[in-house]
Amino acid sequence: MLLFLLACVSPEAPEPAPVAQPAPRLLRSEPPRNVVVIVIDTLRADALLEADTPAIDGLAGLGQRAEHAWSAGTWTVPGVAGLLTGSTVRGHGWDLGTGRLGKYPRLPDAPMLAQVLSEQGFSTTGLYSNGYLAEELGFDRGFDEWRRVSDKVLVKEFRKTLAKRWAADPEGRHFAYLHFLGPHSPVSPSAEQRDKYGVEAHWFEGKRDAIEIGAAKRNSQPGVRVAYKGAYKGVIEDTDARVGELLEALEPWLEDTLVVLTSDHGELLGEHNIVGHGYWVYEGLTSVPYVVYNAQAPLPPMLSTAATAQLVCDELGIQRSWPVTLDTMPVVSQREGKLAMTLDGRHKAIWDPTPRGGGPFSVFDLQADPLEQAPLADDHGLAQARLDWEAGLPEAEQLTELVQLSEETFRQLEELGYLQ
Ligand SMILES: [Zn+2]
Repeated sequence: MLLFLLACVSPEAPEPAPVAQPAPRLLRSEPPRNVVVIVIDTLRADALLEADTPAIDGLAGLGQRAEHAWSAGTWTVPGVAGLLTGSTVRGHGWDLGTGRLGKYPRLPDAPMLAQVLSEQGFSTTGLYSNGYLAEELGFDRGFDEWRRVSDKVLVKEFRKTLAKRWAADPEGRHFAYLHFLGPHSPVSPSAEQRDKYGVEAHWFEGKRDAIEIGAAKRNSQPGVRVAYKGAYKGVIEDTDARVGELLEALEPWLEDTLVVLTSDHGELLGEHNIVGHGYWVYEGLTSVPYVVYNAQAPLPPMLSTAATAQLVCDELGIQRSWPVTLDTMPVVSQREGKLAMTLDGRHKAIWDPTPRGGGPFSVFDLQADPLEQAPLADDHGLAQARLDWEAGLPEAEQLTELVQLSEETFRQLEELGYLQ
């Protein structure tokens, strides 16, 4: 990758200064032909500071990494719906909790990224390992192929797509959405990672050879949360190795491919005495990595993952306006009936009436108080900003038509711990 990039830098480019340089980036005259969006489920942003992730860091080093990215939702369906429809939860209206015994509404009839790219002549492939992204809910809209595969075979299956669609049509344009389950519960890191993070074998005793999140949520045994966190980081490293294989498979096309790597939401790992995701809006859950490779425009310091559709279309030279853009500031998003937002990446307001949410309304200074422990007296104008934002974006209509997930999907969701 590095050799290729050096070869492509314009000869007119000035001599590099001896001091700190921005990450090398392609100087392109034309938009990239292809696009790959990689989502690693349940990956909180700061986990990449603690785990060794050479593939993701390498991609970020050659491209760009956002200082602060927000997930469009607090669990998979609203998060990915936001990413693929380019809108906030308030905008697309899919605003439900987990565990509804397999009955959910279909996604709203908003245009989705794959549909737009398909209309532009792209081949469109989606490989996903989280059963919630089911066809029954409408996630397949616009995809030539939308298939659930496990993390273990995702790269192998993507290689087939590269051979069948990309290599067979070198003049064509191609889109792939690749969704790893990654460190989503139940976490089962490789033996190497268990050793590295000191996660003892007895935590994995049981039929699925994984630590169940339920025990960590309840904090039911001494050390279970420490073990869970170690296993979480171990799986991230295993997933990073898969990302490395994926980028290697993509290498012949990489010079002409926009790559976005992010997550659908993070995971609380004991902060505020909570483990898991799906409801709260603390940073561990809403702050996710955001890496782009081959993008011309600089990333803003803060963005929502819901801006991905706009970013992709802008970078591919496709004229299209999406509800959430890279200029949508401050980021405001409704999640599961609550609302949280930041302004300039520093002050964040949380509306959560539950006792664990700290009361009806709290504002935090994320620079001085990254763990969101000490609510401020001054709301920094965020209460009014929320009202203004809501006035400008009427809440989407209630989705009433429920569909039953297939038995196979239902079984996988049970295994993931969603339907307990
Ligand atoms: Zn998820």
